[in-house]
Amino acid sequence: MATGRGWRAALLLGLAACAGPAAMATGEDIVVCGQRYPIGAPVVLWSDAGGYDASVPGPVLAPAGPAGPRYTPGRSWEPDPAAVSLDRLREHVDLFVLHYDIAGFSRNTFHLLQDERALSAHFLLDVDGTLYQTLDLRDQAWHGRFTNARSIGVEIANMGVFAPDDPSDDPYQKRRWYVRDGERLRLAIPAEFGDAHIRGTGPFYSSRNEPVRGRVHGREWAQFDFTPQQYATLVKLTAALRRLFPRIELEAPRDAEGRVRTDELPRAELDAFHGIVGHGHITTERNEPGPAFQWDAYLRAVRELEARGAASDVPVWPMDAGARGP
Ligand SMILES: [Zn+2]
Repeated sequence: MATGRGWRAALLLGLAACAGPAAMATGEDIVVCGQRYPIGAPVVLWSDAGGYDASVPGPVLAPAGPAGPRYTPGRSWEPDPAAVSLDRLREHVDLFVLHYDIAGFSRNTFHLLQDERALSAHFLLDVDGTLYQTLDLRDQAWHGRFTNARSIGVEIANMGVFAPDDPSDDPYQKRRWYVRDGERLRLAIPAEFGDAHIRGTGPFYSSRNEPVRGRVHGREWAQFDFTPQQYATLVKLTAALRRLFPRIELEAPRDAEGRVRTDELPRAELDAFHGIVGHGHITTERNEPGPAFQWDAYLRAVRELEARGAASDVPVWPMDAGARGP
């Protein structure tokens, strides 16, 4: 027996030595009501080394910031988290809200939400496809205004929209974030942001080789598309969420011609909608997910993954820029 224990101890030591303090374990499970559910994509939980915990009532990455909570424990229809079962959550959760964060990468997203704005989202999706979960889904994140009690939110790292024709009208210098690399657009996080703590090794490319133009709330914008790694994880997360929460339909709000809408929904329409929306469908003050987001390809990819079954290891999104249009 001593030999067995010694073997196990040596193995554990060996693993620890191999992993080293900088390497962090990555799982593939999200957490709902204290239970883990695999999604088939890399997930870092709030409790993991290198994770981001939105339950901390104050700034985390910055030395100072507003005090107080960033979320509501449980849901507003059940303030006791222990009483929020998956069955009850399923009755209420019918909306998945897509955000981008104007922060470029997930660590900066968490910094802005947690340290500066005292807000939260259940998930942060980094440029390398790593998904960070910051709260159990039984808890109510502060991301989508009046939809918070019924929704799950994800912040997909992206700098968002900019004026397409006037480089001088770019207060956040969003054009700097991608540089030409042959035909492709390669992510180039400006040096002043320091270590972005991106887990995967780059380079990372926009899914399309030019900024994508389109109208949101009636105004013309441009936006660098999300990375293929982000789409791949988002597709897997969406399929997993729909297994857990069947009231989230695989649909986005559409206009009379069948196109995904790019305006705010009247409150009654939003209340009656069960599916996937962008923050821009909730308020005219936000443009998410922006004109670059490939709504139809995304919904189609989720549908294909669901048709193949959860165990499939077939790629869900092409990794070459420009391989799949909107
Ligand atoms: Zn948002």
